[in-house]
Parts: sequence; structure tokens; C-alpha cells
Amino acid sequence: MEVVKHVKRNVLLNPGPATTSDTVKYAQVVPDICPREKEFVEVMNEIREDLVKIVHGDPSKYTAVVFAGSGTIIQDVCVNSLIPANKKICVVNNGAYSSRMVEIAGYYNIPCVNLEFPTTGLANLNVVKETLEKDKDIAVVATVHHETGTGVLNPIRDIGKIAHDNDCIFVVDTISTYGLIPLNMEEENVDFLMASGQKGLAAMAGVSWTVGNIKEIEKSKNYPKRSYYCNLYMQYDFLERVGEMHFTPPVQTIYALRQAIKEYWKEGEQARWERLTKCWEAIHKGIEEIGLSYVIDKGIQSRLVVTINAPEDPKFDFFKLHDYCYERDFTIYPGKIFGLKTFRVCNLGQITHRDIEDFFVVAKEAFRKMGFTLPITK
Ligand SMILES: *Cc1c(COP(=O)(O)O)cnc(C)c1O
Repeated sequence: MEVVKHVKRNVLLNPGPATTSDTVKYAQVVPDICPREKEFVEVMNEIREDLVKIVHGDPSKYTAVVFAGSGTIIQDVCVNSLIPANKKICVVNNGAYSSRMVEIAGYYNIPCVNLEFPTTGLANLNVVKETLEKDKDIAVVATVHHETGTGVLNPIRDIGKIAHDNDCIFVVDTISTYGLIPLNMEEENVDFLMASGQKGLAAMAGVSWTVGNIKEIEKSKNYPKRSYYCNLYMQYDFLERVGEMHFTPPVQTIYALRQAIKEYWKEGEQARWERLTKCWEAIHKGIEEIGLSYVIDKGIQSRLVVTINAPEDPKFDFFKLHDYCYERDFTIYPGKIFGLKTFRVCNLGQITHRDIEDFFVVAKEAFRKMGFTLPITK
């Protein structure tokens, strides 16, 4: 795709949407097309195959089912579609995005065992095991791979093993790791994962998908239909039989996704992860130079989000820091941990460690403007 005009580049250090390439932005500019045309069906087929390949799924076992909407739509789809009648979902919950799945279950009156753990650490797997062994009405275990609210990375392989040992299917929100952290869904014991265009693939918001176990999707045909627009089996069936989404797809967003996938293959899984790891290292170097501390133990950090303790000093004003950086094309985001004053620096998109270094030059200026002498000492 030939880029007509350079678009002003903003470095998004918020937890998604992410910074995109100009080629992805311009991929949306296509001749008008009716998505029922064969030409578009071929685009959909190609994308669905790629979405399975990215997570090393065996195409005879796994398929991708795509929906129009932000990431939450695919949480909604998986929660409302995969629980058999009179069965329960168990959510291993250590953050805001697991809590969202609990809330979704509540809206559909689906019985839910909410296993809550502190948001700054990992789940106690013995509790998960005991719960599943005791309560045989639990059919689905759900969790979040990377709690984007904190930056905690959860041990999905272990949780999935416990789920499978207890005849449960394992559903994982990988929205903020898909296309970022190399992931082999079968090895990780994942039956269904969730992802969304605007995060790891650095495409546009408006398209989300699950990659899921075909046998389980087929079984769900007979589960209660709790939503009309957001039913997994219905969408799968339509895609398989007709090759189209049941209702109007986000046409231009799909073209951007196709381009983002091309760029993913071109960069390569490992190279991308190395680029992002360098960004994460640069974030830690930067906060250390300012004299700030991080909240989550480094050993369980995703390397995609760093939650930073805000200085206790009353001189600190997050909005001043934000605005100063924003005016210089860097976007940062407040924290999401109840009771703690934090903010986040995230590295999900088409950025490099140089962008992070440039950001810290600006952030240091902002701290000095607020009256700090750097590094800040307690
Ligand atoms: C971003 C995100 C979502 C979805 O959020 P939307 O605003 O609906 O796109 C869900 N789960 C996780 C882990 C996320 O990072």
C-alpha cells in the first residue's frame, strides 16, 4: 500500500488503542465494496486463518470467529455463549478485566463463582483446584492472561491444566497479549482466547475475535441463546456456511487488520517480542532515573504495562504530567488499582525503545516544571 501523506505520529503509552503504522491507517482507504461480495469473503477467510496461525493453532481443531466491536464484545460473546444450561462459570479474578467477565455473567444471570485474589499478585492455585474439585457444576473456567489494569501476567498454562483436570473448558482474555507475547494456545491449555484489533496487532478499534476449539463451538449450538447479536455459534455457523459475518462487518477496519497482520508476519513473533521487551527495559530505566518506583513485582510483570507509584509529594499532579506530555505527542494513562495513587506507562504498539527514551526526556521536563529536583529522593 502506497502511503499518500504522512500522518502526525502520536506515541500512545496508554493500554490500547496502540500507536499504528501509517500503512495500517491508509489500508482503510479502499474503494467502496459490498461485504457480501466474493472478494470480501476472501479477505475474511484469509484473516480468519491468520488469526489462528498467530497463536499456533491447528486449523483442524481451532477456528477464529470475528465480531464487530471493541474487546469487551468478545468477553461478552464468550461468557454468554459457552456456559451450558444450569452450569456455572468460575472466574479466576485478580483484576479489572476478570471482574468485567463476572459482571457480564451477572447481566445474563449466569451462575458465577468469582474467585477473587489481590490485584497486585497472582491467584492461589490451590484455591482454584479445591473449588473445581468441590463444585462439579462449574463447566467453564475463565481468566485474563495479562491484567492490563496492573501489568500482572497470569500463569494461564497452570490454571488451564487445573481446569482440564476437572473437565472444564478454559477461556482466556488474551486481549492485551495476543500478537505481543508469543503464544501457543494448545500448549497453554487454552480452549478459547479473546483478542481485539486495536491492541497487540496495532490495527484499528472495532473488530474483535475469539480463537476457539471447534468441537466446543459445535457443542454450544445447544446451549441457551442468551444474546441475539453476540452469540458465538450463530456467528461461527454463518462464517462457515456463507463466509460472511452475520451482520454488516466493519469493512474498513477489517482491511486495516489485514494490513496489520501482514506487518506482524513481516516483523516476526520473536523480533516483535524483543522490540517490546526493550521498550519495557527502557521504561524501567526511565522511572529509576526520575526516582520513581513500580508497584508489581518485576517477576510477574507482563513487560507490556508498568504501573508506577505516584510520588507522595503534593507537588505531583498527574494531570499536569499528562498534559505536558500530551502536548508533545506522548499519551500516558492513570492507574487502576483501588486505593493506590499510580499511573501507567504501556508499550503495546508500533513503538521502539527510542520512543520510550524520548518520552522520558519530556517526562523529566514535566517533573522539573512541577518543582521536583531529579532524581526524586524520599
Ligand atoms: C482492552 C482490554 C479489554 C477490552 O476493552 P475495550 O475497551 O472494550 O476494547 C479487555 N480485556 C483486556 C485484558 C484489555 O486489555
